[in-house]
Amino acid sequence: MTWKLTKNNLDNANLLVDESLLSLGNGYLGVRGNFEEGYKEAFQSIRGTYINAFHDQTEISYGEKLHAFPDTQQKLLNVIDGQTIEIFLDEERFSVFTGELLAFERNLHMDAGFAERIVHWKSETGKEAKIHFRRFTSFVTRELFAIDVKIEPLNNVNQVKVVSTVNGDVSNFVDKNDPRVASGHAKRLEVVDVNNQADFSMVKDVTYASNLEVACVTTTQLASEGYSYDCHVTNGAVEESYRVDGKQPVHFSKFNVYTDTLRHGEGLVDRAVAIQESLRSKSFDDLLADQKRYLDDFWKISDISIGGDDQLQQGIRFNLYHLMQSVGKDSVSNIAAKGLSGEGYEGHYFWDTEIYMFPVFLMTQPDIARNLLIHRYSLLDSARARAKEVGHTQGALFPWRTITGGESSAFFPAGTAQYHISADIAYSYIQYYLVTKDQAFLQDYMAELLFETARLWIDTGHMKDGEFRIDDVTGPDEYTCIVNNNYYTNAMAKHNLQWAVKAYKHLKEHANDRLAELTAKLNLNEKEIEGWIDAGENMYLPYDETLNINAQDDSFLQKARWDIDHTPKEKFPLLLNYHPLTLYRYQVCKQADTVLAHFLLEDQQDFDTIKNSYDYYEQLTTHDSSLSYCVFSIMASKLGYDEKAYRYFNETARLDIDNTHGNTKDGLHMANMGGTWLALVYGFAGLRVKETGLSLAPSLPEQWDSIAFHLHYQGRLLRVNMDHDKVCYKVVEGDELTVIHHGEQVKLPNGKEIELTFNKKVNL
Ligand code: BGC
Repeated sequence: MTWKLTKNNLDNANLLVDESLLSLGNGYLGVRGNFEEGYKEAFQSIRGTYINAFHDQTEISYGEKLHAFPDTQQKLLNVIDGQTIEIFLDEERFSVFTGELLAFERNLHMDAGFAERIVHWKSETGKEAKIHFRRFTSFVTRELFAIDVKIEPLNNVNQVKVVSTVNGDVSNFVDKNDPRVASGHAKRLEVVDVNNQADFSMVKDVTYASNLEVACVTTTQLASEGYSYDCHVTNGAVEESYRVDGKQPVHFSKFNVYTDTLRHGEGLVDRAVAIQESLRSKSFDDLLADQKRYLDDFWKISDISIGGDDQLQQGIRFNLYHLMQSVGKDSVSNIAAKGLSGEGYEGHYFWDTEIYMFPVFLMTQPDIARNLLIHRYSLLDSARARAKEVGHTQGALFPWRTITGGESSAFFPAGTAQYHISADIAYSYIQYYLVTKDQAFLQDYMAELLFETARLWIDTGHMKDGEFRIDDVTGPDEYTCIVNNNYYTNAMAKHNLQWAVKAYKHLKEHANDRLAELTAKLNLNEKEIEGWIDAGENMYLPYDETLNINAQDDSFLQKARWDIDHTPKEKFPLLLNYHPLTLYRYQVCKQADTVLAHFLLEDQQDFDTIKNSYDYYEQLTTHDSSLSYCVFSIMASKLGYDEKAYRYFNETARLDIDNTHGNTKDGLHMANMGGTWLALVYGFAGLRVKETGLSLAPSLPEQWDSIAFHLHYQGRLLRVNMDHDKVCYKVVEGDELTVIHHGEQVKLPNGKEIELTFNKKVNL
């Protein structure tokens, strides 16, 4: 059960959710879990195929457009539909909504990387067949989406017809009543070429405005004996049909290969054909075996196994699996807030990547993590341009939401004003450096990015009475906007500034040529660095002496408190039921803000302040954003609130599987999925990575028997295995490593298991 998700729904609302849950992806391509033959007419479906970063540019219309509001935004497009396969038993169209369903089961296999649908169906006139669909998007050949169907006719069937369609006439989903989903611009792709020749069906589309092309080249195969074949090309689609004698099993396979301008340039159709040629010698099962090998390697490192709770174990694996399915692995893509599983947030990349998902890859698949950083680096020029546009004289202001670097947020109070994203990106670079000690990376990418983000803070803030203050920004909590001195932002900016100084000193000591290059490129001077030191050292971090907590910002604690306990259940999430101004006027948090800062930068405050702040903000937090629970779980672990840590963890692990936020149909909550890993590893196992090294402070929830996982750290692979009595560490790859275990240094030689109690060594 724990490697598999089974879903057997047939009602519309649950089918929509299952489309996201059973979606397939490989970081490049994503396909929702739709039925090949569709649903019944009255049902809604978000039938979707997406290519990471493949977008159109759409205009933003404003009632009142003020200076430097973005004119356009990017939108991930639903591309050519290669899913459709219809089956006819003697002209009776197969549909699970007609006739009689004798068996029905859908599974997502997370260990093997495919989804399946097993059906036993009897038509209205008594024709019967067992039908088994399998499908996958390949991790090995990222352009490939393949479907395989085995039909076993059982009763009264003279002929089976299989009709396979590739359709380029597609649109995106819109919902005018939900700000988290696009409200317009449904149709953005035009079909420019459709044909069928030399064994291939081909459809090519172009976007309306961004001028990007996408192609789908498809081959189909019928393995059964003696069939007849027909092909029909219309304006927007290619339809191939096979008729075969119904007295034998029928085996049909469909291989769709997608290419696009961003990755494959102008010759995208030729590239797709070449990929098809290279796959020709392989059967569906051969390709599935390659998929399994890829996933074996992934799970060997990335799995977290917990003993004693199958439900949560399934949730953890499901979340990790979808993270891997969603993460971009090339130079033009990142991880969208909904991955490649749906259209919520229009395929945009947010801070969700750096703070919630990047750490998972950093500690388990560092090459993927590096790619995410390089992708952000590729957006640095746009961030510099955006800073100028908004009125800064220097620095880089990263967009709140984007695909190719342009700000795609039209609502600036909870969008552009979230300046913290620039410090969040800087934070992820610093974490990468601490984990890898990759000096070349520091010199080639990190220093420049830190310098430009440090400059943003200098240009945004100001010194007053010896303190550096940052006014009119929004922190992570989107129910409190445009405030002075948001604690989170100021703390992260301080860290950003201090590390910009460290990177500068590093270059001065170790890479003078690179420093000279950057000095010339950025027009840097020593005086400027002194400004960074000064601002970093004197950063104002709001503190309330009466409550002994960090105030979320200068005005937060002056406001009236929102009465969460007496707010009717149906009023949540508040953002769908109250005007933003109403929310801004109260002490109420959509998500972790100060509490998150206390996790990311725990050394900036003492334990009591962190604890008091947690106690205070917990009462005011609705967790209307799915980015919240994991942070509260991690911090509850740190503070010794074991029951709470466990409870919040439960909320993260099965949030999508159980659709607890009610909008999983629009796509999976990727940041929360990363948060599940964070809550386990940073929370229960107490991982921290600092300049002092890697530390762990494991404590196992009493509800479980054990946790085991791997971490990459400075060229080593470390295995951690804990139960109620002891923790076992083993360096399985790389040299001896010294870790800090519950505050004590412990040497871990290569290849030898070291067993420790939670507080002291038992067996060295
Ligand atoms: C959250 C943001 C998040 C965005 C995308 C919003 O609901 O408040 O913090 O970046 O969703 O996931």
